[in-house]
Amino acid sequence: MSLSVELSPPPITAPELLPVREPIAIPLPVKIVKQHLPYPKQVSRRILWRYAVPLFVGHAAAMFVFVPWLFSWSGAALLWVGVFFYGGIGINLCYHRLLTHRGFRCPLWLERIFVFVALCCLEDAPASWVATHRQHHNESDHEDDPHSPLVNFLWSHLGWLLVDNTSIRNTSAFDRYARDVLRDPFYMKLQRSLLPVWIYLAHALLYYAAGFTVGYLVSGTVMAGVQLGLSWLVWGCLVRTVAVWHISWSVNSLSHVFGYKTYDTGDNSRNNWLVALLSSGEGWHNNHHEDPASATTRHRWWEFDLIFILIELLERVGLVTHVVRPRLERNKNSTRHAPREEPASHGV
Ligand SMILES: [Zn+2]
Ligand SMILES: [Zn+2]
Repeated sequence: MSLSVELSPPPITAPELLPVREPIAIPLPVKIVKQHLPYPKQVSRRILWRYAVPLFVGHAAAMFVFVPWLFSWSGAALLWVGVFFYGGIGINLCYHRLLTHRGFRCPLWLERIFVFVALCCLEDAPASWVATHRQHHNESDHEDDPHSPLVNFLWSHLGWLLVDNTSIRNTSAFDRYARDVLRDPFYMKLQRSLLPVWIYLAHALLYYAAGFTVGYLVSGTVMAGVQLGLSWLVWGCLVRTVAVWHISWSVNSLSHVFGYKTYDTGDNSRNNWLVALLSSGEGWHNNHHEDPASATTRHRWWEFDLIFILIELLERVGLVTHVVRPRLERNKNSTRHAPREEPASHGV
């Protein structure tokens, strides 16, 4: 993709001081925006091969999980640890809460580490991811939403990735929705080159090399090394990648169809406990649409948000600052104290 974006300084939005909204239970059936939507106007029939091919190859390669010879308990453990590590830290903490919503700040070196973790998920470069998600918040469950399930469920889950949609992939979309991200030359380079693919392949190779080394050292035979190397590659890398894809996509699909609503947000976002559990907190999606700037999606004590626990831990050791608290808390603080400066946050 070639971009020649004239980047101007990002807009600084005013701190949100909207009326306090206590969590309430909205009786079902909830009011929905529309029953059905057409495909977004700028979607073409042209298949986006640079997305379609990796998605197909990834799913096909993950089928090796059914080969008994490739199973190992250590590989299975790497799968589950990886789902939370790469999906939780890379996609949810970094791409979503840090880069998209600016829910907290951290040193650049730490942000770079988070971005490398995210790139190991093969979910696009940061600017693309951010632009698509900001547009989703702006147009949620309306015609220009890139992936509303009101078109159909499969479209919202992965269909939207397979065809070209110029409303999220042209220069003006990047200028509107990801200008702040692309001001960083490194993120511009990631956007314009195949570097994300090479980083992903390099980390896959590392999985094989680590598994081979451990297998060889433990058993003393080359074949045992090959077997464990391939096991870690399949279970720890390939299957984990596909699992994280589906968990991320479920936030767009399942969390806009199934679950309960606490707030009337003008869209169909829901709080879905299963998605929340698998995605370390992202499934409390109705809460998130109500207060996207907040670094947490937890609005009730039982809405477990693992990512925010990690953000608070990093804050306690001084690696994270300017954590945006839930609006309820922000408003209470603003009425209790004199007006003070809050971090600039994207309200989308
Ligand atoms: Zn949503
Ligand atoms: Zn969001």
